Amino acid sequence: MNKSRSPHTSVSHFLHTSFEHLDLDNYLCRLIESPHQEMSCELPFRHDDDSIEVFRAYRVQHDHSRGPFKGGIRYHPDVDLEHFRALAKIMTLKTALADIPFGGAKGGINCDPKKLSAAEQERLTKDFTRRMSRVLGPAYDIPAPDMGTGENEMAWIYSAFSEGRDDSPQIVTGKPVNLHGSPGRIEATGRGVGIITEWAAKEFGMNLPRSTVVIQGFGNVGSHVAEYLDDAGCTIIAIGIKDGAIYREDGISISKLLELKRERKRNFDFDDLSSFGDQISLEDLMKVEADIFIPAAISGAIHSDNVQDLSAKMVVEAANIPITSTAATELEDRNVHVVPDILANAGGVIVSYFEWVQNHSHYQWSQERVRKELEERLSKAWKAVCSLVHKDKISFRLAAYTLAVERVKNATLSRGF
Ligand code: NAD
Repeated sequence: MNKSRSPHTSVSHFLHTSFEHLDLDNYLCRLIESPHQEMSCELPFRHDDDSIEVFRAYRVQHDHSRGPFKGGIRYHPDVDLEHFRALAKIMTLKTALADIPFGGAKGGINCDPKKLSAAEQERLTKDFTRRMSRVLGPAYDIPAPDMGTGENEMAWIYSAFSEGRDDSPQIVTGKPVNLHGSPGRIEATGRGVGIITEWAAKEFGMNLPRSTVVIQGFGNVGSHVAEYLDDAGCTIIAIGIKDGAIYREDGISISKLLELKRERKRNFDFDDLSSFGDQISLEDLMKVEADIFIPAAISGAIHSDNVQDLSAKMVVEAANIPITSTAATELEDRNVHVVPDILANAGGVIVSYFEWVQNHSHYQWSQERVRKELEERLSKAWKAVCSLVHKDKISFRLAAYTLAVERVKNATLSRGF
């Protein structure tokens, strides 16, 4: 990957900007930046047809000064150790900003889950869990869903991890509600992005119900953002997924699209999406004129070669690290409002925390309680970031990073060296 587009380069740049803003001691900077532990291994795998493929599996544990490592499991053909390093750092900052008692981690497998049968997905997930089980634990490192994984994989992780030891539902979050999962977890990331988008529109003087929106990615996160913003009265005029994008000037029928997506489950693809608007290319998705752009797919989606195409007044980062540091600087120079990932998509890890708490207390909360407490936590983080933005006259990203780094620093210092 082009180095300037690497998520790791971007996260390092954002982190160093916050270190400078805080005037942090160099040793502390290194302590906060360096991963605690990294695992990577080959995972030889037998397919249904008996052919053998060797996958690469990873778990990067970045920081646990504030509590157990926490972070998603990604299945994607393009992942590597450096990418997980960047994503694990983002998790440390996100849990700190949301003020939940976790650190940061990330891991997964370099595979394309769409090319695996359901039985293969289950075997691969269980192989991965058994191989990683020595570095996971309900009070040590707690995985969750991310790109390419969902509640099925989390149920398999719980099942494989509990083999030969006490039943441990709190080893993983994002499980199905009928298997120790939390009501409101599946929708939490997208719902949180929707709530933050509402607050941001108010802050930036935009009229949300009259706003047009483009969404890149229509998986778990993108589809729930679409649902929330559609309910809030926005007109969603373009949506892109891995294999293409659609545009409809008078607005895509989100309720019908969601109905189809729920019916098709994992088989939802571009053939399904394409009947809801005119087909456009993924490059043209970036050029669609709209008030709000929501990247909800890959890292590095907005970079120095396409940032000039973006006409939105506001970008809300539903995906992790969707804007490279070079593109972020250009957007700032153009006064485009950007709500950073560690604030915008924190809803998922916040409700993961609620699930973990429910598992420990053996008591399931109602969806109403989950939604109410999610909004309260998000509101605290949002207000803290806004107040630092206004006090120090800095960007939302720098304010969010600064608050998060300061909390990690304080926990590190309290523990002593
Ligand atoms: P997902 O696998 O459910 O969906 C990913 C979507 O992105 C799919 O619609 C896919 O077709 C699309 N996509 C992939 N490559 C694309 C491309 N080049 N252009 C356009 N679309 C593309 O994943 P998800 O769980 O919705 O995660 C999406 C993003 O949100 C990721 O960056 C993830 O790290 C972040 N995130 C997820 C959660 C969570 O709880 N799932 C929490 C926080 C952050």
